[in-house]
Amino acid sequence: MRVLVTGGAGFVGSNFVHYLRQNYPQYEIVIVDLLTYAGNLENLKNPENRAQKFQKHQDRNHHKAFRFIKADIVDKASLRPIFNEHIDAIINFAAESHVDRSIRYPSLFVKTNIMGTQTLLDLAREFKVGKYIQISTDEVYGSLGADGLFTEETPLAPNSPYAASKASADLLVRAYHETYGLDVNITRCSNNYGPYQFPEKLIPFMLFKALSNHALTVYGDGLNVRDWLHVEDHCRAIDLVLHNGKSGEVYNIGGNNEYTNLQVIRTLLRELKKPESLITHIEDRLGHDRRYAIDASKIRKELGWTPKYQYENGIKQTIKWYLNNEEWLRKKA
Ligand code: NAD
Repeated sequence: MRVLVTGGAGFVGSNFVHYLRQNYPQYEIVIVDLLTYAGNLENLKNPENRAQKFQKHQDRNHHKAFRFIKADIVDKASLRPIFNEHIDAIINFAAESHVDRSIRYPSLFVKTNIMGTQTLLDLAREFKVGKYIQISTDEVYGSLGADGLFTEETPLAPNSPYAASKASADLLVRAYHETYGLDVNITRCSNNYGPYQFPEKLIPFMLFKALSNHALTVYGDGLNVRDWLHVEDHCRAIDLVLHNGKSGEVYNIGGNNEYTNLQVIRTLLRELKKPESLITHIEDRLGHDRRYAIDASKIRKELGWTPKYQYENGIKQTIKWYLNNEEWLRKKA
């Protein structure tokens, strides 16, 4: 199997590349990434990965097993040679992914997230790629009140330019399935946490601030609820969709771990033995969604997915990773 992983130098994409190398050493992986501010080739060299030594050995014997190509998913001409060599599956992680940046630069999000997706879909169609997976987000569903969960049937109601660009991309993916019969899946997952997350996102951002004894700036009252999912559990879900996903289906992925931003921040401070007086509330983000929570019963029932991590152990392991990789964190922050 020859798998194209776009956005493979980012947070979730690089974790997925490590996951594939560990679990499917026989697969050939082609990584395409533009290496924007969020992409980092260091994410792909994981000294802690137990499979790494084995994999180096494998790579020497099978030099094509793992390949990186710097390219823009919007630029069809630069991607065509990759497809000329045949691709069995595309997993599209490449995106502009930060809500705050989307409020400042919406056009960039339209270009990468919508036009980039359409370019990949066109190539998938032209080169008869067997499977196309769009990595989407629960943010396409908008915001929940105190009760309820997002199911795959929840109407799309994105509130930020980021969420709108992801929802638009999802609609294109659906249309390429309905119109051209492309074998596609869309996965919509909740907030991920784990190693290699760019420190603009809540957990690594707050860890960096706490380690530096700087103020931990929290939007509004900090009571916005997110459903936290360990990135490794996300990777395991994508694996199931890649191999067993039913064509045209959407799968929600969520950890069933709802915590407010303030609760997450307090856990970090407690683990680092830092005072809560570092917390400083600032003006709320524009259009800040109050609550996201996922009903993941479809992927559990149909594909047999079960998360391995509970927030309590996953967060401790994640904090440990950032402490062991403080240089990585400081370089990126
Ligand atoms: P990230 O910002 O860490 O990584 C995105 C990667 O895409 C980077 O390596 C970047 O260089 C690359 N990229 C950006 N523009 C590109 C372009 N035009 N061409 C090629 N590469 C480009 O994001 P992430 O957190 O790893 O998210 C990955 C995917 O998962 C995104 O599609 C995001 O919407 C989705 N997602 C993430 C989360 C989360 O909590 N991290 C939750 C739900 C969904």
